[in-house]
Amino acid sequence: MQTSGPINARKIRVLIPRLPDVAAIAPHIARIDAARTYSNHGPLSREFSDGLSALTGAGGVTLTCNGTAAIEIALRARANPGAGLCLMPAFTFIASAHAVCNAGLTPHLLEVDPDTLVLTPAIAEAALTELPQAPSAVLVVSAFGAPPDLRAWAAFEDRHGIPVVFDAAAAVTALSGIGLQPVCVSLHATKVLGIGEGGAILSSDQALVERMTGMTGFGFVGQERVSTVRGGNYRLSEYAAAIGLVVLDGLPEQIERLRALTATYRQLLHNKRSRLQIGAGTDWVTMTLNAVIPPDEVEATLTRLSEADIEWRRWWGLGCHRHPAFADVPRCDLSGTDALAPCVIGLPFHDELSEEDVWRVVSCLP
Ligand SMILES: *Cc1c(COP(=O)(O)O)cnc(C)c1O
Repeated sequence: MQTSGPINARKIRVLIPRLPDVAAIAPHIARIDAARTYSNHGPLSREFSDGLSALTGAGGVTLTCNGTAAIEIALRARANPGAGLCLMPAFTFIASAHAVCNAGLTPHLLEVDPDTLVLTPAIAEAALTELPQAPSAVLVVSAFGAPPDLRAWAAFEDRHGIPVVFDAAAAVTALSGIGLQPVCVSLHATKVLGIGEGGAILSSDQALVERMTGMTGFGFVGQERVSTVRGGNYRLSEYAAAIGLVVLDGLPEQIERLRALTATYRQLLHNKRSRLQIGAGTDWVTMTLNAVIPPDEVEATLTRLSEADIEWRRWWGLGCHRHPAFADVPRCDLSGTDALAPCVIGLPFHDELSEEDVWRVVSCLP
């Protein structure tokens, strides 16, 4: 008789990233050995950048050392002058708030739409009427890889003259129609296009991209060794670009795996009260699949998961305002976020899960 249950079943982990192995990377490393260019927008970085441009349709790409740096650079390049406020959702990964502060701005935390989990222009517009001064920028966050509404936010920028920057950290494979507003993505190992550490800023504004690329390398724009804009060192090394080239080659299979696993979850969740994000696994894929659990069932669900030795995670915690480092930042009423955030539970999602494992997870969900 087959036994199942906490005693005999193995632990199910929440996320197990997988990057290319050494054999796959070796040919590209050999190119670096031959060229003896190790950073500074070298040949592999340029090729990887072209690959990201082809993948996303973005007219321009600035590579960065990570996604948080991408957001910081984009905000520094675009925010209206003065150390003002930056509107942003409280419900996001805490990196967003760090980037806003590092760009010299003060986060002003807003609610998200409970269905899509994102800040909307309507929420931001309602906040504008409450603020003592016009904010310098707004940081719009993609919810776990869902494509942000680029057009609606471009219209918001036109209406209010408030520059928009997108933290689309997990959405690099979900983007289309990238316009002037910079779209920042992360290439961290836990993202769909993971290379270890890395990031990129995508935009159709060529002059802006050139300036942001300069900002990643001591402000050298065009003329070598003359700093024309303030920045720092935020470059991607050629070794990271080498991994990126291999990951790009394998991306269609990676997306297909994630799509199939999400479909299994979706099928087993049919007729349950827990829901996946709209479009997850059909319109876009993610490495961090979440279920939104009915509020009255959250505690019991987490107990069942833990008793079944199944790891789960609140990838974005309970909101930026709940972290001590950001407890004092200004905000609108966040009662919606306080109700929503505890219900968004990251489920096990990786290539070592069998269909039976998924069944074990889903059987703990209401
Ligand atoms: C992953 C992530 C980041 C940070 O990206 P890093 O590459 O880890 O710096 C920022 N914002 C969101 C929403 C993320 O998911």
